[in-house]
Amino acid sequence: MKIYDTIVIGAGIAGCCAAYALQQRGQKVLLVDRSSSAATGGSGAAGAFVSPKIGKGGPLQQLTNEAFVYAKTFYKAHFPDYFHQTGVIRIPKDEEDAQKFSMYEQYNDTHYTWLTPAELQALGIQEEHSSFLFDEAGVCDAPELCNAILQQIPFKQFDVNELNYDGTKWHLLNAECYTLNAKHIVLSLGYQNTLLDMRYMGVRGTWGSRGDYYSNLKLDVSMHKRISVSANVDGIIKLGATHVKAKEPCMVCDGKPLATLEQQASQMVDSSDFRLKETFCGMRSGSKDYFPLVGRVVDVSYMAEHHPNVFRGAKPELKHFENLFVLNGLGGRGFVFAPLMAQWLSELIINGKEVDKRVDPDRLFLKWARKLHKTP
Ligand SMILES: Cc1cc2nc3c(=O)[nH]c(=O)nc-3n(C[C@H](O)[C@H](O)[C@H](O)COP(=O)(O)OP(=O)(O)OC[C@H]3O[C@@H](n4cnc5c(N)ncnc54)[C@H](O)[C@@H]3O)c2cc1C
Repeated sequence: MKIYDTIVIGAGIAGCCAAYALQQRGQKVLLVDRSSSAATGGSGAAGAFVSPKIGKGGPLQQLTNEAFVYAKTFYKAHFPDYFHQTGVIRIPKDEEDAQKFSMYEQYNDTHYTWLTPAELQALGIQEEHSSFLFDEAGVCDAPELCNAILQQIPFKQFDVNELNYDGTKWHLLNAECYTLNAKHIVLSLGYQNTLLDMRYMGVRGTWGSRGDYYSNLKLDVSMHKRISVSANVDGIIKLGATHVKAKEPCMVCDGKPLATLEQQASQMVDSSDFRLKETFCGMRSGSKDYFPLVGRVVDVSYMAEHHPNVFRGAKPELKHFENLFVLNGLGGRGFVFAPLMAQWLSELIINGKEVDKRVDPDRLFLKWARKLHKTP
């Protein structure tokens, strides 16, 4: 019986980065997905812009920007063919937003420069407000990147139906009761979790559509206003993305999911020769508080049985599943967060180093338990 150090379930950008980080640190890893290739979930749909967050410097902005610095360095060092450091211009959404940019400036903790409307015009961008250029930001080829990572890791197509722990190792079963075994499990399931009760993490779906367009437009830099427009890379410009709160993994659309994107892009750049190559649709899985979910998983059944008062406001010590971990909740910034979150998770699994409290899913459990009790 082959026993892996870790089996990572889910070959989106989260699972690929987790498996890669663990293997880099010497573990015998297996990555599995119900599909035969990587990035068939949200990760395959992503425009995969990798840029810092702007704003008033709150904790989520700080974390995002730490992750951004790590991600661009990681992609350049390990997967340079799939990360295009085009720079990303952040353009104010409107007059009111433009007023805020001078306040945001002090919280731009990665390298940036101001571009005036004339400088934007010279780059082929129609815009009346000065904007930030983050020259170290860029855009990934999302499915190609995930599959390049997958090439370096043992992979098996396996639809996990059930997880069982025998006290020393985990057994993963598919519908045919075929079994895989590992000391540790990482769940990187994106939006569709059918394996464990992880309701307390409050994973929510935001549906998105975006498109790749053929174009000869000379556009050397990517940008984001209300939507994102990528630089022209090998004759393709990406437009992304719509945001629709969703419960179902496929949203019914009017057959023209990209109409608003095309209309907004035409106000930013000359899109007259854009010709749709491909439409992508997928679900982003975000947490309740928009911070990633990285770490151990609380055993909800154990807590209910042994500490029922936790549902009435008590704060007993939390019991976690042995050697079972999660990396999820990356929301609309999976390609920004995944490399750093995977690194933190690998330190927890291999060295027992506790993950950063900001991303530890424990932060959500007690509040969820109290709320559950109050809900009739
Ligand atoms: C339209 C759109 C645009 C986006 N744009 C950007 C962007 O510009 N920049 C950015 O950083 N992020 C962007 N995102 C967000 C990004 O795509 C997500 O954050 C990221 O894909 C999350 O990756 P994941 O690995 O957590 O989930 P997923 O990619 O959904 O992967 C989960 C995987 O788990 C597998 N799985 C689930 N259950 C099982 C099971 N029981 N057995 C086996 N396998 C299982 C699924 O098959 C799937 O492959 C965008 C997303 C969308 C939809």
